[in-house]
This record gives sequence, structure tokens and C-alpha cells, in this order.
Amino acid sequence: MFALQRREFHQFQGGGREFLYLVPSAAVFELDEPGRAVLDFLDGTTCSEDCLVDGLSARFPAPLIRETILDLLNARAIGLEHLQDGEGPKQLPMMPFPLNTLVLNVTNQCNLACTYCYEYGEDKIVDTEHGQQSKFMSETTAREAVDLLLKESGRVAHMTFFGGETLLNFPVLKSTIAYARAQAAAAGKTIDFSLTTNATLLRTDIIEFLAENEIGVTISMDGPKDLQNKFRIFHNGAGSYEVVAPKIKELLKTHRTRPIGARVTLTSETIDVTRIYRHLTEEFGFWEVGFAPVTTSPQQQYAISDHGFDRMLGQFRELGQEFLEHAVENRHHGFSNVKDTLEEIHKGVSKAYPCGAGLGLLGVSTDGDIAVCHRFAGSDKHKLGTVKTGIDRAAQADFLEQHHIADKTDCHTCWARPLCSGGCYHEAHVRYGTTRRPNLHYCEWIRGWTDTCLQIYGELAVRNPDFIARFDRDEARAEAVL
Ligand code: SF4
Ligand code: SF4
Repeated sequence: MFALQRREFHQFQGGGREFLYLVPSAAVFELDEPGRAVLDFLDGTTCSEDCLVDGLSARFPAPLIRETILDLLNARAIGLEHLQDGEGPKQLPMMPFPLNTLVLNVTNQCNLACTYCYEYGEDKIVDTEHGQQSKFMSETTAREAVDLLLKESGRVAHMTFFGGETLLNFPVLKSTIAYARAQAAAAGKTIDFSLTTNATLLRTDIIEFLAENEIGVTISMDGPKDLQNKFRIFHNGAGSYEVVAPKIKELLKTHRTRPIGARVTLTSETIDVTRIYRHLTEEFGFWEVGFAPVTTSPQQQYAISDHGFDRMLGQFRELGQEFLEHAVENRHHGFSNVKDTLEEIHKGVSKAYPCGAGLGLLGVSTDGDIAVCHRFAGSDKHKLGTVKTGIDRAAQADFLEQHHIADKTDCHTCWARPLCSGGCYHEAHVRYGTTRRPNLHYCEWIRGWTDTCLQIYGELAVRNPDFIARFDRDEARAEAVL
């Protein structure tokens, strides 16, 4: 009789029950008493089915153990010793991969001089001051980008405007949206728009335009005055809080056609997650707030150290707990980092690549060069064609071949890899000088945060399964719209 052994999983608890996060399938499996007994029995050893039945006969009847073994085999929580359940051959995506989102850097200029900004600091990839790229995208280039997106996308396409400070090129943004809508209608496709802005240039007519055109807006903001003004400053060193606060309030009052979110950059000097969250949701009324640690080399004093990541994780856990209590009562909570991860867990996302960059998402520089994503726009080393000549499919295939999780050997024993897959290419480029390396400096943080989200997921599965079932309904609704 064949010997059985444990496969790769991460065990966690939620709502007083036990669960497994099954790494090969990225599925969540609830463990009952006999299931736990079988896994405990197989901890560090192998054993045949009969030996398991014998070993556990004092606690469970034989048919129940055999049934449990079958369930665990089907879930791939255990397997036959002689048949290794490896990753299998490297599976590259089918090409040409459809383009889903195009991020247009409509300018590489900014009216702020945020100390930590990757575009202007020592960590920059593209020289936006003295380099070859134009400072502003022309209307012609933007229209070529629209044509490319509509040619390469499925029935729904997403266009995101980015910068520099996006609204410095509002005239091109405005005319591009009108052009894109007309072209999309002619092609029988739907196109959706969003932008990211530092809010300094918002004015009544711009806000009305954004509301009327249902443009998704994300505001880059770091929280209360003392935190915002620490890094988000004008070129003369003045803080931006006083300028942006009234404009954001007007935006949130007027723009009701799409929920508006804030995106916070955390540094070693501004890790105050709960205070920032409260300020942005209660003082301003943002629908949701997402936090990301600053991308920078470890030498920068504002870089987050290991200790800082621990602090950040502790604060994320506190706010995650608050999210959970709201979700149990079907109340909205805007901590988007939890919601996004819960959705990925629920959908069983298992990534060969950390994000859509170079896959369904591409960036476009002011001159129309296509890049892996907006953070690489204008970099010759990360160029994947131009909006005029189209996506360089060979370069794209090469990029995907080189960045597959199968080649990130350090990640092969990590249970969090279905969701992390090595992490952001830009972060890796800044840290290690190459997009190909996994971000091993923040693994503990990633695993800690993923474990927290799994626990929240487990607890919701027990206390309010309807909340997580919403992710299926949202998906079904989105498909119905298509
Ligand atoms: S980067 Fe770290 S956390 Fe992410 S998959 Fe690799 S080993 Fe795991
Ligand atoms: S590579 Fe990094 S910055 Fe670019 S899309 Fe992916 S996660 Fe975002």
C-alpha cells in the first residue's frame, strides 16, 4: 500500500475553527477533527492508509478516517509519497495576452517635490528633468494610446491617467476621454477611466468634469497635516495640506458618481495607520484608504526597517480587526488592503506574476513608449514597444519568460507565493537593481499580513459567510454588464 504524506499548506484559525491554505491550489479548506488528526499523524512522517486507520482507531471509526483521507487527497492537503506534487512545468501565458489596462503618464512633471518620490529622488529610473522624454504627452500620442488600447483589449478596457501630477495636463486628459468614448462606442467596446492626483490642482470645473464623466479618482495623500506636510511638499518646501484639504472636501462633496479613494505612502517617520485612516475617512469622507510602504533604497532615512515593518504589521492587524467587526455586521469599512486580499483569497488567485505589469497592464511614457508599467514609463531598458508601432510582443514574451515565479527559486518553499509571487518589480529594481529578483527584504511582512487576512477570511466564513459571497455576486454582476 502506498505511503501518504503531507503536502504544502499553511494552517490558520478563524472564528474558532481551523483552516488550511492549500498552496498548490490557493484554496481554503476547513479542517474538521478527523482531518486535523490525520494531518497531525502525518507530521514529519509518512504512513499508509491502513496505518492511519489503525493509528487513529481509538478516536475515529475506520470509514470516517478513510473518507477523511479521500477528502484531504482531493484537496491536495496530502498526497502519495512517490508522486511529488510539484509546480509542474513552467506555464507561460498564451500570447498575445489581451491588454486590459493602459496607464498613461500624461506628464512627468510635478508641482510638488515629495521627498520620497521615486520619480524625482535618487531612486528614479527615468531622468524627467534632463532626459529625452517630453515633459507632457501630446494629444496625438494620447489618441494613439487610445487606438492601441481599443485594438488590443477585450470588450471592456480601462484607461488610467497618471504622472507626475496628472492634472498638469488636464487639457489632453479631457480631450482624450472624449476621443476614447467615441472610438470605444464605434468599436462596440466599453471604456472606463480613472486617474491619480495629488489634489493641488483640483478646481470646480475639473471636479464637475470628473463627476459628469464618472472618472474614478485616487488621491495621493498621507493623512493629517503633520504627516502630509512631512514629505508632500511644494518645491519651496511649503507643506501641501492647507492647499489640498479644501479641494478634496469639494471633490468628495461634488463627485458622487464613483467612490473616491486615498492612497497613502508609509515611511519610517509616518507609520500611524489608524490615525491616518481615521483622518481620511472621518475628517474627509474618503470611501476607502489603501496603504503602501515607500519604495526606496534601504539607505534612505525614511525607508522602513524590519522593526518598522513589524510596527506597520501590528497597526494593519488592529485596523484589520476593525474591518472584520464591520464586515460581520455587513457595514462598510474602507481599509482597502484587507478587502483586496480577501477577494484574492476568495477567488483562489494563484499568481505566476506579482501583478498585471507587462501582462494585461502596460504603462505609456509622455513620448508614447510602452513600458512594463507606469513606474518604468520612459525607461529604454523596460520598453515594450510604442503606441505608434504597437506592443513589442517578442519583448513582452521575453519579459514574461524571465519573470515567472518558477524562476524565483527563493520563493519556492514560501506558502505565501500564490498571492505574492515575489512582489513589485519596481521595488525589486530599486532595492536590487533588477526586476527579476524577489523582494526578500519584506517576506516576513508579506507572510504576516497574508496570515492576518486568512484569519479574517476564516472568521468571516464562520460568522458572516454572506459577506465573502459578495465577491462572487460582484463578479457575476460585472460579467452581466459585459
Ligand atoms: S518574495 Fe518572499 S513572501 Fe513573496 S513569495 Fe517570495 S519568499 Fe514569499
Ligand atoms: S510592478 Fe509594482 S508599481 Fe508596477 S504595476 Fe506592478 S506592483 Fe504596481
